[in-house]
Amino acid sequence: MSNKIPNYWAIVPAAGSGSRMKNRRPKQYLDLLGKPILQHTLERLCLPRIVDIVVCLAKDDAYWETLTLPKTVIRVDGGKERCHSVLNGLQMLQQRAQPDDWVLIHDAARPCVRQADIEKLMTQLAYHPVGGLLAVPVRDTMKRAALSASNSHQGEIEISETINRKSLWHALTPQMFRFKTLYNALQTTLNRGELVTDDAQAIERLGLRPVLIEGHTDNIKVTHPQDLNLAELYLRQLEL
Ligand code: C5P
Repeated sequence: MSNKIPNYWAIVPAAGSGSRMKNRRPKQYLDLLGKPILQHTLERLCLPRIVDIVVCLAKDDAYWETLTLPKTVIRVDGGKERCHSVLNGLQMLQQRAQPDDWVLIHDAARPCVRQADIEKLMTQLAYHPVGGLLAVPVRDTMKRAALSASNSHQGEIEISETINRKSLWHALTPQMFRFKTLYNALQTTLNRGELVTDDAQAIERLGLRPVLIEGHTDNIKVTHPQDLNLAELYLRQLEL
C-alpha cells in the first residue's frame, strides 16, 4: 500500500428505469419535497472529503439537465445492469484515482442517507485494506420460500425453512472500497459473465471480506410507489 493519503471519490449509479415504481418518469427523477430524488442524493454526497462525484446516467436520459447542483458532477453513460454502470464510473476515474484511493458507490434511489453515516463509513474504514458498506441488522424473523410451488395448495408461496437472523444484515449503500480492488473485482466478475447486485458481492468473490458498518433503517432505497411518502417523512426529520 502506498504512503500517499488516499482520496475519496463517489460514484452514483442512476441509469435504472425503476420499473417497480410504475411511473413513466425514471424513479430518480420523481419529486421529493420539491426536488428530484437524484438531486437530494447528490447533495448528500457533497462532503468536504469527497473530491468528485461521477454519476452514471441512461444514454437517453432526458431529465439530467433539470437538476440544479451545488457542485460540478462528472457524467458517464450507464450500462445494462447496475454493475455495468458502476464499472463505467470506475473507468472514468481511472486516469485520476490512485490504486488505494477510496470509491464510495451510492444508489441514486437512496436520498435519505445520513451524512453522519457516510462520515462514519469513511472514518471507521480509513485504514482498512479492503473496505465495507453501510448495513443494518435484520429485525424480522426470516423465511425462505420454497422454490417450487408444484406441491402447494392453489399455487401459494410456501415456507421451506426459517433462517437464523442473528447473522443477517440488510446491505445498504454507500459501499466503499479501494479503487483498484473494486475495479479488479467488477472486471473479473463481468468477464466471467456473472452479475452482482451490489459491489460488496464482487469483492466477496475475490475471497475478500467487506466490513459491515451499522447505518440506519431510514436509508431506504425508493423502490415502490409507497416508498415516496416514507422518504418524504424521513427527509423532513433529517432536515429538522
Ligand atoms: O434497480 P435498483 O433499485 O436495484 O437499482 C439500484 C441503483 O442502480 C439505482 O440507483 C439505479 O438507477 C441504478 N442502476 C444503474 N444502471 C442500471 C440499473 C440500475 O445505474 N442498468
